[in-house]
Amino acid sequence: MREIKHWLDGQAVSGTSGRQLPVWDPATGEQQAYVVAATKAETERAVVSALAAFPGWRAASLSRRAEVMFRFRELVDANRKEIAALVSLEHGKTVADAAGELARGLENIEFATGAPHLLKGGYSEQASTGVDVYSIRQPLGVVAGITPFNFPAMVPMWMFCNALVCGNTFVLKPSEKDPSVSLLLADLLRQAGLPDGAFNVVQGDREAVETLIAHPDVEALSFVGSTPIARAVYEAGTRAGKRVQALGGAKNHMVVLPDADVDAAADAAVSAGYGSAGERCMAVSVVVAVGAVADPLVAAIGERIGRIAVGPATDPAAEMGPLITREHRDRVAGYLADSGTAEVVVDGRQAPIASGPGFFLGASLVDRVSTDSPLYRDEIFGPVLSVVRAETYDEAVKLVNGNEYGNGTAIFTRDGGAARQFQYDVVCGMVGVNVPVPVPVAYYSFGGWKSSLFGDLHMYGPDGIQFYTRSKVVTSRWPDPATSEVDLGFPKVR
Ligand code: NAD
Repeated sequence: MREIKHWLDGQAVSGTSGRQLPVWDPATGEQQAYVVAATKAETERAVVSALAAFPGWRAASLSRRAEVMFRFRELVDANRKEIAALVSLEHGKTVADAAGELARGLENIEFATGAPHLLKGGYSEQASTGVDVYSIRQPLGVVAGITPFNFPAMVPMWMFCNALVCGNTFVLKPSEKDPSVSLLLADLLRQAGLPDGAFNVVQGDREAVETLIAHPDVEALSFVGSTPIARAVYEAGTRAGKRVQALGGAKNHMVVLPDADVDAAADAAVSAGYGSAGERCMAVSVVVAVGAVADPLVAAIGERIGRIAVGPATDPAAEMGPLITREHRDRVAGYLADSGTAEVVVDGRQAPIASGPGFFLGASLVDRVSTDSPLYRDEIFGPVLSVVRAETYDEAVKLVNGNEYGNGTAIFTRDGGAARQFQYDVVCGMVGVNVPVPVPVAYYSFGGWKSSLFGDLHMYGPDGIQFYTRSKVVTSRWPDPATSEVDLGFPKVR
């Protein structure tokens, strides 16, 4: 059985704890590899390595750091197929979906190559007579990233591209469920010219995360995962005096107004609800059908579900793969078993592939879901789309705003005025207008509101640059010593 190693000081290193965590092949249900969960000592070694690399990497010029990112971009591009195949192998998503993830990751590398421009400070000449004031941005030191299983290539790139190019060094704790791609990226960073120790990977789980949170030399934590863990990491990290951004779960509502094109809305709901088997934090999990659009919309979604090809990533015709683990598949299926008063229109448990050894579940559609049911309240994170019926636009917005989560939302309508009002009204971090998965491009930042994000700054883009640097303001003058005098008054501008 293959061991997926740590990456310390520029090379792959075997784990020593003996505590093996399985890495499954979700398409076959068989174990394909394992990681050896990092001990406290191994995690600390990664931090020591990153700390030792920091002064040298920080001193590298802006153009040198950008150059490493340019080279890394070329290497990732040249290895697209291999990276996507590795993502599919451990995550189970289709190769096309994995390639899409990678394309969005590449955007983040491209953004980071612009750091020389993004790190420019401000300068005020003659703020007072003979006095200039200017601001500069400096890296924090060692920063850590803790990432979820659902985007094993892209989410780490959301973090480390900006962190590194700003001059920090990085320790990544990837998901233990699909960890291999982190090592491939580490090796490509090395080939791109990143000094050894500037990027380290520790495989593992809670123990490694807790070590990173407690370590006094880790200055900042970026976390992406489920809400309970995001909240816990945020609370423990800030208590330890660190800068923390912790992105959590979601329950993304797609509001369909009565004037929407039913076919276009159904296409969007199916794409965004079942893409990646619903294991996306920006997946649509609730369709809010307003007024008379509900019946034709439910029929159109149901009809499309029948045409979705569910299968392993090795099948080029497959459009939707398995779920990440057997346990997770069973948990998701449990929502269909306990659907209460809701109407299960399409039951994915009945798809033939759902009875095989892989962790498959067919696309499922549940109508007339009430807002007090677990189907509506919980983040299911699987191919289960709930339909909630609303009488009016106001009722629909109330649903979006009353939900615990506020990651993404979308409106489908032909009415520009209604869409503009929606954008104004909703309490949510990312909004799509006739766009079901409104993941911002890399030169904006990604982040939800409410229980979808703990912290102040969103991830990647301009917020990412701000998160991974701190500003310093310099007040400077070069007076003629002959004019010097004692003045006990508080410095004021003249
Ligand atoms: P998860 O919360 O189980 O795990 C995320 C990371 O935290 C992993 O690296 C894991 O090893 C670690 N972890 C798990 N338990 C821990 C504990 N008790 N203490 C410390 N660390 C712990 O999430 P997941 O199942 O890997 O990913 C799916 C979740 O991530 C979903 O809730 C999804 O919405 C969310 N997600 C959010 C975003 C976003 O941008 N908001 C993006 C992707 C995924």
